[in-house]
Amino acid sequence: MDIEVNTVETKLTDIDAASLEEAGEIIRAGGLVAFPTETVYGLGADAMNGAAAARIYEAKGRPSDNPLIVHIADMEQLDLVARDIPKPARQIMEAFWPGPLTVILHKKEEVPDGTTGGLQTVAVRMPSHPTAQALIRESGRVIAAPSANTSGRPSPTMAEHVLEDMDGRIPLILDGGPVGIGIESTIVDMTGEVPMILRPGYITKSMLEDVVGTVQVDPAVSGRTMQKDIVAKAPGMKYRHYAPKGQLILVEGPRNAVVDKINSLAEEKMQQGYHVGILATDEGMADYRVGYRMSIGSRERPDSIAANLYKVLRECDEQKLDYIYSESFFEEGLGNAIMNRMLKAAGYHLISL
Ligand code: AMP
Ligand code: MG
Repeated sequence: MDIEVNTVETKLTDIDAASLEEAGEIIRAGGLVAFPTETVYGLGADAMNGAAAARIYEAKGRPSDNPLIVHIADMEQLDLVARDIPKPARQIMEAFWPGPLTVILHKKEEVPDGTTGGLQTVAVRMPSHPTAQALIRESGRVIAAPSANTSGRPSPTMAEHVLEDMDGRIPLILDGGPVGIGIESTIVDMTGEVPMILRPGYITKSMLEDVVGTVQVDPAVSGRTMQKDIVAKAPGMKYRHYAPKGQLILVEGPRNAVVDKINSLAEEKMQQGYHVGILATDEGMADYRVGYRMSIGSRERPDSIAANLYKVLRECDEQKLDYIYSESFFEEGLGNAIMNRMLKAAGYHLISL
């Protein structure tokens, strides 16, 4: 789909007092600024200005029913956007904010439909990244920001990724270097009887349960197969996402069987003339013989896999890979969030041995 956005010159700048001041002015004027957070780069606009929020959808090519997350810098700003905040919600905010946790709450009247996709609830997060906090403070606004990628592509974990997708569409990218976590925030809905995870992330189910007791997971995101009859409660989770242009295929099973299967599938496709890639980990790289081989990180450190995942998925496009075969990961803790993103990137294409 071609997106019609007035062509602007996109400036990528280091973060200093002058660039923050300029960024604050752009936000107040209803424009867009890309900025680093601890999870991924965000594409920010004034959350209380419906026309500004609409520009985010236009720049990303994002479906209009997919609401934005509102970023705040302090608890006073929470009261601008949310009402009737239940005690357990306060407890998890206290425990995990500022940090990679988004909380769904009942929205205040004043929050425009453009920000919430017409929902009566609002997603709120207090990021810990100093630049994100500084930008919110400098602008004097609450900032609606989804990930700063073209809709459907892997989220940006470096300013260069944002430039790839947003060049000519937005005036300013604040370059804070590579982000720390690398996958999007955990989303937890606090408007029901029992807290419910709508998107897994760095803050895991057991971390939340330590604070508020039982937490459920939306069945639409806990599954390993496409569940056509279950509609995801976070509208964004129903879309194909994070995907490289080629077909990603995950393979799981006993270690040796996985290696043999990936090697033979890769050889077969290469013989047919395709560009083939293999995604593995530091520990397994030596086992693969053919194709364009990439390590996502170390199995001993799931956080390294989260941090590299989107960069490696973008590399698949740079290398123009037609087929990418990948090892899979344990689904405990952070592994759960990693596999959720990989299954979506693969369109749930999973071979179990
Ligand atoms: P992104 O910031 O690009 O990761 O996208 C924001 C995510 O938050 C999407 O998956 C949205 O569907 C989800 N989200 C935002 N607001 C709400 C809400 N009020 N209820 C449920 N999910 C939401
Ligand atoms: Mg996104």
